[in-house]
Amino acid sequence: MTADHAIALARTYGADNYAPLPVVLARGEGAFVFDTAGRRYFDFLSAYSAVSQGHCHPRIVKALVEQASTLSLTSRAFHNDRMGAMLERIARVSGYEKVLPMNTGAEAVETALKAMRRWGYEQKGVPDGTAEILVAEGNFHGRTTTIVGFSDEPDYTRHFGPPTPGFRLVPFGDAAALAAAIGPHTVGVLLEPIQGEGGVRIPPDGYLTEVRAACTRANVLLCFDEIQTGLGRTGRMFAFEHEGARPDLLVLGKALSGGLYPVSCLCADDRVMRVFTPGSHGSTYGGNPLAAAVTLAALDVLEDEKLAERSAELGGRALERLRGALRGHPAVREVRGRGLMIAVEYHEKIARAVAHELCDVSVLAKDTRGDVIRLMPPLVIREDDLNAALDLAIPVLARESRASASGPDDLQ
Ligand SMILES: *Cc1c(COP(=O)(O)O)cnc(C)c1O
Repeated sequence: MTADHAIALARTYGADNYAPLPVVLARGEGAFVFDTAGRRYFDFLSAYSAVSQGHCHPRIVKALVEQASTLSLTSRAFHNDRMGAMLERIARVSGYEKVLPMNTGAEAVETALKAMRRWGYEQKGVPDGTAEILVAEGNFHGRTTTIVGFSDEPDYTRHFGPPTPGFRLVPFGDAAALAAAIGPHTVGVLLEPIQGEGGVRIPPDGYLTEVRAACTRANVLLCFDEIQTGLGRTGRMFAFEHEGARPDLLVLGKALSGGLYPVSCLCADDRVMRVFTPGSHGSTYGGNPLAAAVTLAALDVLEDEKLAERSAELGGRALERLRGALRGHPAVREVRGRGLMIAVEYHEKIARAVAHELCDVSVLAKDTRGDVIRLMPPLVIREDDLNAALDLAIPVLARESRASASGPDDLQ
């Protein structure tokens, strides 16, 4: 199929809820993707960090194919012989006693919200129907009506109301403001340790520790959404490890399955997870054998190929190089990152134009919030490939003048 035809079909029959760059991808391998004409691109988005293990990793593909031809879905009405091993593995990797498997990130966040509310009513003694959960300005936790109801990004929320009650926004990165907002009905705090869609916003040092302490003091559950930051992306297995601020609930997704299949989960200790009783929550596909086989292989790759360590080393060197190259540049406000989660923030909303220009030089990256370009290659990228990509990207990132953004912002 030609690129033009593929784009025409998507335009004709698809809903208009995305504004993709005009590139039609047909194949992927490791850190690279190829378009319909066979042109090779560096993937510097990694499907928002879902493809940390690289495209079509042979070990994960093998697990998928073998399990797909053996048993794929039974529903949770019956046991299956693969789910237990996946839960045990995620529990070991995350350090939590219990794991509840779902499919997409948003579903796992919803699972965490339900867990915190029930815990609030049944353990903390908050009057039924009054629970409050604190969330951060600039948050992104998915696209369900409840989740977008507590977003402050107009593109995510406009005319999707009325919002679900029981959520309150506090400034991101301000632990004192968060502590002051905790009231008698507060049951939980939901945060991204680094805001991804919000523009790779890294909170001040000590923030996660102070939030942890405030939650403990007030008997409030702390939940980190590490769907994007988790599983090696920031140079540690989990971003909360940078400060040793272990949350009560941890939400994972994206790279949990290495980009081959949607798998997400909630991790928590039994004192929280036991609020779920038979019939109280579920998912037809959650915990299916195919998901389990893929997740086990994806975590094997993550550990055996030491992807968190690679992310720390390669990310540190890439950040240094980008900072050196863009230092003092009049258009650039800041270059920041943790591991291979790196962002260039501009003073003006030109990031969409920059993404187009990066595409022209075969680097696929993504603007977010208009003024930020996110650079997030698969964690398996070879160092010489990373450097080759930066050789191509830096002159574009540092271009002195450009027409302002072409076309509307595309938000995840
Ligand atoms: C991507 C993402 C989600 C939503 O995941 P989906 O699989 O798209 O539902 C939630 N939280 C964060 C931090 C994310 O990056």
